[in-house]
Amino acid sequence: MPAFPDALRASAPKSRARRRWLFVPYDQLHDGIGPLAKEPAAELGIVLVESRAKAARRPYHKQKLALVLANLRHFALEQQARGVLVRHVVTAGGYAEALAPLAKELGPLRVQRPAERELRAELAPLFADGALVEVAHEGWLSTAEDFAACKGPPWRMDAFYRQVRQRTGVLMERGKPVGGKYSFDAENRKPWRGEPAAPTELTFRPDAITQEVGELVARDFAKHPGELRLDRLPASKQDAERLWQWGLRECLPQFGPYEDAMSTRSSGLFHTRLSQVMNLSRVLPARVLQDVLAADLPLPSQEGFVRQILGWREFVRHVHEATDGLRRVGKSKLTQDALAADLPLPATFWGGAPSGMNCLDTVVADVWREGYSHHITRLMILGNLGTLLGVSPRELTDWFWAAYVDAFDWVVEPNVLAMATYGVGELMTTKPYVAGSAYIDKMSDYCDGCAFDPKSTCPVTRLYWAFLARNAERLEGNQRIAMPLRSCQKRAAGERAKDAETLAWARRELSAGRALRPQPAPRA
Ligand SMILES: Cc1cc2nc3c(=O)[nH]c(=O)nc-3n(C[C@H](O)[C@H](O)[C@H](O)COP(=O)(O)OP(=O)(O)OC[C@H]3O[C@@H](n4cnc5c(N)ncnc54)[C@H](O)[C@@H]3O)c2cc1C
Ligand code: SF4
Repeated sequence: MPAFPDALRASAPKSRARRRWLFVPYDQLHDGIGPLAKEPAAELGIVLVESRAKAARRPYHKQKLALVLANLRHFALEQQARGVLVRHVVTAGGYAEALAPLAKELGPLRVQRPAERELRAELAPLFADGALVEVAHEGWLSTAEDFAACKGPPWRMDAFYRQVRQRTGVLMERGKPVGGKYSFDAENRKPWRGEPAAPTELTFRPDAITQEVGELVARDFAKHPGELRLDRLPASKQDAERLWQWGLRECLPQFGPYEDAMSTRSSGLFHTRLSQVMNLSRVLPARVLQDVLAADLPLPSQEGFVRQILGWREFVRHVHEATDGLRRVGKSKLTQDALAADLPLPATFWGGAPSGMNCLDTVVADVWREGYSHHITRLMILGNLGTLLGVSPRELTDWFWAAYVDAFDWVVEPNVLAMATYGVGELMTTKPYVAGSAYIDKMSDYCDGCAFDPKSTCPVTRLYWAFLARNAERLEGNQRIAMPLRSCQKRAAGERAKDAETLAWARRELSAGRALRPQPAPRA
């Protein structure tokens, strides 16, 4: 027996009273914001849409498809349990096709402004003809005025963060930041050597609804990549709550000091894995912020986490919205390829074709197992190596979008195109985030199990020098990277030639699906 349709039918409110209808997109699954929070449940109806076309648009990780569908279905049942009537629609097509006839039948549908540009674009004709009526999205913590006050472009997160801290009074005392400074980032850079123990990852017991979603994904999206692990999938409101309580209790006390650490022994370390549920609104950022401020935490951890939620997360969505998804600034078209990086994404990113570099292979394996890896592995392993190799920023972005369970356009595009690859230049960051093997060796244990030696045979440092050499002109005048550029220029001609050879060799081998090996010595 199909569990979800039966449960939905059985839980439908009996009252046939006339209802005011809303469309609730897949990432607004909370009744603490918008009309669901303010109007009586018995007077409301919501439309929830499962679009197979959307699910098939990219090779999304199976876990992501299951996460979205399982949460949407649990939300439907949770809402009916509180008296809201649910119209659940499954369509082979898109959202607009599904909603247009419903708006005719039920009257104009209100919807909180969709977070994803892609969904806004798809629904634009329905907004234009009045079938959909936009209301404000109440899930964000900052306003367009906050963003405007930090001036730009280019935009800088620290200016935005200071503005929001000052306006909201968060971690402020008599107009000054608590602890005397806005950011404790400099204190938060410890490597992790096994102590304190990393939290044990939370597991969930999949109910009949989640199991049915798992069967659907395994059957209808069998060709999609990634492992499906239902016991790691937060599906209900209670699951999301448990995940957040776990993060607050087990991760946050050590979050700050080990924020930048990476390890083969834990894909998440002291990171909370909250983005997967927060990006679906299962846990609201306002609640997260409130709990973090109320918790008894060391200031570097508390401030460090507040900066992620109130700073980075809000900042990237403003940048995305202000630039039409990093496509234009004002009337000018924005390049997504400021460093002329054009290497097609090597197959190694899709798994199954090891690169021979333990850092990259470990994180890629984490991603296809979990649909997740934490921030520094995204930035300093995947982003860094992609940038050093000269991978096309757009291709890398599309890969992140498909591979991570928490990826939606407003968050993945700024993080990859702007932050990780410098694809849009100085728009959002002051310099490219690139590093050689010394950084990776210091901040992780990846090098211990690698065929390369980080101090001699490792290709990453030569790739770093080759990156600086080929981009010297483009980065000229950038004070944040002036010193490494000068060091690069001082390298002996023979070393520079070997850097270029290493780059050509690494690009050629990885593009052919072959692993890099320390011996024989790299040849162009
Ligand atoms: C190349 C790259 C790609 C990324 N892609 C995504 C993505 O698709 N979806 C996504 O939600 N985040 C993305 N991020 C940001 C960040 O890495 C993730 O939010 C974070 O790793 C999620 O794991 P967590 O919940 O354990 O985070 P924690 O470290 O526990 O952080 C708490 C929360 O802060 C927020 N946050 C922190 N940094 C950022 C940021 N730069 N942008 C937005 N939110 C942030 C997230 O909501 C996160 O859940 C990306 C970062 C990089 C460098
Ligand atoms: S030695 Fe080089 S390639 Fe190997 S893990 Fe370390 S940084 Fe990565």
